[in-house]
Amino acid sequence: MLLNSYTLEFARLSCGSKAQQLDLIAHLDQDISEVIPYLNSVLEGFQYTKAPRSVSFKLNGKLVVIHPREICVNAPDDQSEGEKIIKWLREKINDTWERRGEIQPRFESAPKPKVLEILRLLPKTNCGECGRSTCMVFASHVSEGGTDPDDCQQLDGEQKTKLARYLGQFQFES
Ligand code: SF4
Repeated sequence: MLLNSYTLEFARLSCGSKAQQLDLIAHLDQDISEVIPYLNSVLEGFQYTKAPRSVSFKLNGKLVVIHPREICVNAPDDQSEGEKIIKWLREKINDTWERRGEIQPRFESAPKPKVLEILRLLPKTNCGECGRSTCMVFASHVSEGGTDPDDCQQLDGEQKTKLARYLGQFQFES
């Protein structure tokens, strides 16, 4: 077993949450660096960094970032949901580690939506109703997969469809 134990903490972090929401951080008691490229394949990560290693992916609409000694879950609905996600991830990490001989590790990110292309499709009023200070900040979070585009209440039907079509080309929207 690669990951055995961890402690949980709710805090305001930088993994894309709205200002009023808390993220869940699991502080890992074991270093899981070696499994991260395999998780990038198994979990269809959309962002991978080499140094330090990390992988980001979406789970039930939440952004999850896995680091060697920490897992960050973007704004779970409540403590129970956050705990379930981390428990599921621990099983997935250990199963992936056990099966690593059959898995092709992936050392790169999936193609990512462009911030300026997302911004072009937003209302650009900087109204702040989405919890971000500007549409540019919102576009940046959407590009990273940390924000649901539906959080922009001002998007009208046609622009919403266009944005969904654009984002639909990228892995993190699945
Ligand atoms: S709600 Fe929409 S229009 Fe308003 S700041 Fe956020 S992204 Fe921009």
